[in-house]
Amino acid sequence: MNYKAFLSAALLFAAVACTDKKPEMTAEKNASTNPLLMEWSTPFGTPPFDLIKDEDYFPSFETAIANHNVEIDAIKSNTEAPTFNNTIVALETSGADLTKVAGVFYNVESANTNDSLKAIAKKLAPIMSEHNDNIKLNAELFAKIKTVYENTDRSTLDSEDIRLLEETYKTFVRAGANVQGENKSRLKEINSRLASLSTQFGENLLAETNDFELYITDEKDVAELPANLRTMAKEEAEARGHKTGWAFTLQRPSINPFLQSSTNRKLRKQIFDGYAMRGNNDNDHDNKAILEEMVNLRLEKAKLLGYKSHADYVLSDNMAQNPHAVYNFMDQLWTPALNMAKEERSALAAKMKADEVKGTFEASDWRYYVEQVRAERYNFNEEETRPYFEFTAVRKGCFMLATKLFGLQFKERNDIQKWHKDQQVYEVLEEDGSHLGIIYMDFFMRESKRGGAWMNEIRAQQNVDGFVTPIVTNNFNFPPPTADAPSLLSFSEAQTLFHEFGHGLHGLFSHVKYASLSGTNVPRDFVEFPSQVMENWMSEPEILKMYAKHYQTGKVIPDEMIKRMNDANQFNTGFGTVEYMAAAYLDMAWHSITEPNTTGANEFEKAEMDRIELISEIIPRYRSTYYAHIFSGGYSSGYYAYQWSEVLDADAFAAFKEVGILDRDLAAKYRKMLSLGGSKPGMELYKAFRGKEPAIEPLLKKKGFVK
Ligand SMILES: [Zn+2]
Repeated sequence: MNYKAFLSAALLFAAVACTDKKPEMTAEKNASTNPLLMEWSTPFGTPPFDLIKDEDYFPSFETAIANHNVEIDAIKSNTEAPTFNNTIVALETSGADLTKVAGVFYNVESANTNDSLKAIAKKLAPIMSEHNDNIKLNAELFAKIKTVYENTDRSTLDSEDIRLLEETYKTFVRAGANVQGENKSRLKEINSRLASLSTQFGENLLAETNDFELYITDEKDVAELPANLRTMAKEEAEARGHKTGWAFTLQRPSINPFLQSSTNRKLRKQIFDGYAMRGNNDNDHDNKAILEEMVNLRLEKAKLLGYKSHADYVLSDNMAQNPHAVYNFMDQLWTPALNMAKEERSALAAKMKADEVKGTFEASDWRYYVEQVRAERYNFNEEETRPYFEFTAVRKGCFMLATKLFGLQFKERNDIQKWHKDQQVYEVLEEDGSHLGIIYMDFFMRESKRGGAWMNEIRAQQNVDGFVTPIVTNNFNFPPPTADAPSLLSFSEAQTLFHEFGHGLHGLFSHVKYASLSGTNVPRDFVEFPSQVMENWMSEPEILKMYAKHYQTGKVIPDEMIKRMNDANQFNTGFGTVEYMAAAYLDMAWHSITEPNTTGANEFEKAEMDRIELISEIIPRYRSTYYAHIFSGGYSSGYYAYQWSEVLDADAFAAFKEVGILDRDLAAKYRKMLSLGGSKPGMELYKAFRGKEPAIEPLLKKKGFVK
C-alpha cells in the first residue's frame, strides 16, 4: 500500500521471516547442492545470481524451513532452565537459512519477476504464514519465553538485550500467546474470519474499480485532453470491446489526468462519482456490511488481548503509543490545513466564475481548477525542469549529499553480480575508506518490476557473533533512456530517488547487536522519517545547485526556475493535507470504538466528517467502502503514520536549518539516531537527537499554513 513510496517488500519480508539469523544446526542440513544455501564466496557475501536458477528457490525454502524447525525444536526441548541466551537469543538467531533465502527471493520477485517466480510466491504465501503461526502460537515455546521474561534479572542484561527480551515477549503476546481455552479458539475464529472478509473487501473493490467506465464517443469531449491520455483511452475502449470511442477508468493514471484536464463538468462529475461510490452501490460488490463486521471483530479481538479498542492495540506498538496522542497530533494540524483549503477553494471557485462557468464549484471541479490556477499564478510547467533532473545527476546528488553530511564515499562495483543488467551496485565506504555496506540501485521501469518505488534489505546488519555488514536495495520505476535522450526525471521522481536513498541510509548506518532490531525494523510511524527528511535537502536551492545541471548544456538550474518550481509545488497543500487527514480521522474513528458499532457505514462516516467539519468540496482520500489500506491492507489505525513521520522530518530539518543544512556535527547525531534502528523506542531516539520532542510548527511552516 502506498501513499508515495513505501517499504512493503521489507514489511512482507519482516512479516514472514519472523525470527532471524545465524545457523546453529548446520550439521543437520543438506545444503551442498542448492546455490541459495551454499556459503557464498562472492565479494562481501553478495548473492551469486549467475548460479541461482528459478527452480532452486522453492526447494531452498523447504530446506530452510525444515532447518528452522529443527532449531525451534531444540529451543523447546532444551532440558536446562530457560535463560536469555538459550531461549531469546537462540530464537533471535534461528532461521538464518530462511532469512538468507527470503532476502534474495523477495527482492528478485518484486523487481525482476516472471511467471515461474510469481507461481512460487503464491505457493509460498500460505506456507510462510503457517510457519510463522507455528512459531508465534506455540505454547511450549511461549512458556519458556514467559519464564525468561518474568524471572530474568534485568541488571545482568544490557539495554539492547532488555529491548530484545521485551519485544520478543510482546510479539508473542500480541499474537495471542497469553489467551487461554475458549478464548483462544475464538481468537483463531476471528483471525480466520477477518482474513476472508479482508480478501472479500479487496476483491469487491477491484471488481468495482474495473467495472466502471466513462465511455465517450463525441470527439469534442476529448479534444483538449493530453495526447497520451487520449491514446490510452482509445486502447482501453478497444480492449473493452467498443468499436470506436474512448474509455476512461477509475485507475489513477486514467481518472487523475482526466479530472485535471477535461473541460466538461458533467463528465468530470460522472467519473468522480464513479470513483467515490465504489463498494457503496447496493450490489454484489457492496463493502458496507463487510467493513461493519470487520470493525466489530477487530474490537472483540482487541478486548480478548486486553486492550480497550483496536486502535489501542495497534498503537501500543507505535511511536504514538495511544489514540489520544494520535488525535492530539491530528487536531493541531487539522484547523490550519482546513483554513488553507478554504482559501484554495475561494481561489478555484473565483477562477471558475471568471471563466463564466455556471453552477456551484464542486468536489469534481477541484483538480481541474488547481491546474488552471497553478499555471496562471506560477507560470510553471514541470516539463521544463526535467532536463535538469537527468537520473545520473540526481543519483550523484544523493551521493554528494551523503558525502557532505557523513563523509561517505561510493564506489561502483562491477564485480558484484546483479539481478538485471540495468542495475547499478555500489560499495559504500566510510570517510577513512573502511567498508560500510552495499547498495543495489535498480532505476528503470520494465514489465518484470512491480510499480512504485521501495527499499529492501538483502542482508540486515547484526553483531551477535561477529559484525555482519548490511546489503540494501533501492528500486524505482523511472522512464528508461530512449535513443534520443537519457532518463529525465520529474520533480517528484527526483524526490523519490532521495526518499528511497534515505531508507537505504537507515539500513546502511545500522549498528546494533540483533538483526530484528536493526535498520528499518522500527515502528510504522517512524519508518518514513529517515526517507522523507531527505526530500527536504533535495529541493533546497543550495543543494539543487550542486546536482541539478542541464544534461545537454551542463548549466546549473537557474534561481528563478527554482523559485517558480518550489512555489508551484507549495500550491494546493491545504487540499492535499485535508484530503489525507480526513481519511486518517476516519480510520481512527472506525478503530477507536470501545463498544460494538451498530451504525451503518455511510451514516458513521458522515457523522465523523461532520464532526471535523470537512468541507463538501473535498472528500476523504479514501472513503470507507474503498479504504483498502485499512480494510484489505495492514494500515488499520495506522494511516496517520505518514503525516506523523512528516512532523519528524520537518522538525529534524528545522534543526539543520538552525545550524546549517550541511553541519557535520548535527549530521553525526542524526546518524547515531538511525544507527540504533529499533533497539530503543522511537521517541527516546528522537529526543536524544533533537534535545526535545518533535514540534509541529516546522511542518505547519513548511506547508505554508503559518508564515
Ligand atoms: Zn518510504
